[in-house]
Amino acid sequence: MSTTSPSAPADRRRSTSRRLGLAGDPVLAVDRVACSGHGVCAQLLDGVTLDEWGYPVVVEARVDGDDPVALEALAAAVRLCPARALYRR
Ligand code: SF4
Repeated sequence: MSTTSPSAPADRRRSTSRRLGLAGDPVLAVDRVACSGHGVCAQLLDGVTLDEWGYPVVVEARVDGDDPVALEALAAAVRLCPARALYRR
């Protein structure tokens, strides 16, 4: 019986790619033309605040790719942005 999980090789490959600089953590980006200032992103993501007109100011755009909670918050923000102005690079 094996003690490793089925995803272990994929995790090792991802980790190696990061170490070699071939892959980076996901980065949140805002299409400023499409953004209509609803502010959903600031409610869901740490590192996003709103300016005085309600448009996002992305303070920390990089998301820790090893943090499943942060990745889920990023995916939810992209999915829930009413103007489809958030995307992941
Ligand atoms: S949720 Fe979307 S539309 Fe609303 S402020 Fe954020 S990026 Fe702009």
